Amino acid sequence: MSYVKGLFCRECGRKYPAEPINVCDFCFGPLEVIYDYDSISKVISRETISSGPMSIWRYHHLLPADHENAVDINAGMTPLIKSHNFAKSLGLENLYFKNDSVNPSFSFKDRVVAVACTKALEFGFDTLACASTGNLAGSVAAHAARAGMKSYVFIPADLEPGKVLGAAVYGPNIMAVDGSYDDVNRLCSEIADNYNWAFVNINMRPYYAEGSKTLGFEVAEQLGWKAPDNCIVPVASGALLTKIWKGLNEMASMGLIDPVKTKMFAAQAQGCAPVVTAFDANTFNVRPVKPATIAKSLAIGNPADGYYALRTIAESMGGAWAVAEDEVADGIKELAEKEGIFTEPAGGVVIGALKHLVETGQIDPSETTVAYITGNGYKTQEVVQDVVRPHLIKPTMASFEAAIKL
Ligand SMILES: *Cc1c(COP(=O)(O)O)cnc(C)c1O
Ligand SMILES: [Zn+2]
Repeated sequence: MSYVKGLFCRECGRKYPAEPINVCDFCFGPLEVIYDYDSISKVISRETISSGPMSIWRYHHLLPADHENAVDINAGMTPLIKSHNFAKSLGLENLYFKNDSVNPSFSFKDRVVAVACTKALEFGFDTLACASTGNLAGSVAAHAARAGMKSYVFIPADLEPGKVLGAAVYGPNIMAVDGSYDDVNRLCSEIADNYNWAFVNINMRPYYAEGSKTLGFEVAEQLGWKAPDNCIVPVASGALLTKIWKGLNEMASMGLIDPVKTKMFAAQAQGCAPVVTAFDANTFNVRPVKPATIAKSLAIGNPADGYYALRTIAESMGGAWAVAEDEVADGIKELAEKEGIFTEPAGGVVIGALKHLVETGQIDPSETTVAYITGNGYKTQEVVQDVVRPHLIKPTMASFEAAIKL
C-alpha cells in the first residue's frame, strides 16, 4: 500500500483525488502528492529502510506508488564515492560524487520512471509515454518493456545517437520530432489530452517527480544518516533539485536525520541557463530561452519547475552557476581522469559548477559537498572524441618499445 491521500495545487492549495492529472483546473498550478505523514512517521525508521531492498523501494513509505507491485529493474542505491584526487586538487576535505550514471538505463531517470510506471499500471494504463531530452526515453522504454506495456517516446530529432540507440534497443515507438525539447513537450501535452496514455512527465508528473526525492534520501543514508552541507545539482526542468531538497526535509521531519541546513546549488550550461539567469537577476520569474548547448539532457528552455527550483535555492541559501560551453567536455575528462567516472555533458556541467563554487568561496573546504553525476558518458561519446588516441603497434616487442618511447 502507499500513503497517498490525494493531490493538492502548489499555487492555490485546492485538493484533488489521486488521479492521473497534473494541473489545477482553477489556476493551472502544478499538482503535488499529499501524504499521510502521521501514519508514515509511526512505521518508518532507519531500521525499516536499511533492511529494505537495495533499490529506491527501500523508501517506499515516502513514495506515491504501491511497492508490492513495483515495476523494478533495480533503480537506485548507486554509489556515493568519496573523492580523493578531485578533492585534493580543489582543497576540499569532504567531497563526494553521487554516481547515478550506473542506474539500469544509465541515468537518474530510472528513479522517476520506476515510480511513474508502477503508478501507471495501478491506474490501469497499457501505454507509457514521455517527452524526453534523451535519458528519459531510454528509461521509459526499459520500464515499459519490463512491465509488458507499450511505449511511445518523443525526442528532439537532433539527439545524440547513443541516446537514441539507448532507447531503441528496448523496442519502444520512437518519435523523433523536428524541433526543440520545448516543441516536443508542447506536442506531447496535446497528445496527452487526446490519447489515454500515461505520459510520465505530463499527466503522471506529480507521481513521477517524487521519485527524485530518493536522490536526497539515499545520499543522507549513505553519509550515515546526515544531510550534506552542499548539493550541486544539474538543472533541466528543475524538478530534481527541488525534490532532493524535499526528500532531505521529509527525512528530517520523520526524525530520521537532524534538521536540514543543506545549501542547494543549480548547475546549467551557458547555452541553456534560464534558471541561472533568473537567479542572477534576483527574480523567481524564469524567462524562456532557445537552447543551444552541448548538454542536451539539460536543454529545456522553458523549465516546468524553474520557479520552484529558484525558491528552493533561495530558501536553502544556495546558489547557481552557468558553465561555459567549452568547459563542459573538460569537466567530463577531468572527472574521468581524476576519479574513474565517465559521465555525459550534464556531469561535465556539474564539475564546472563545482570548480567555480569552490574558487569563489561559496563552498567551505571543510563542509560535506555532494556533486550529483546523473548520466553516463557512454551515451554521448562524440563529445570527447578527441581523447581517443591509441598507439597503433605491430604484435612485436620492438614495435611496442618504439611506441612507448614516443
Ligand atoms: C533529466 C536530467 C537532469 C535534470 O532533471 P530535471 O529534473 O528535469 O531538472 C539532469 N541530468 C540528467 C543526465 C538528466 O537526464
Ligand atoms: Zn490551483
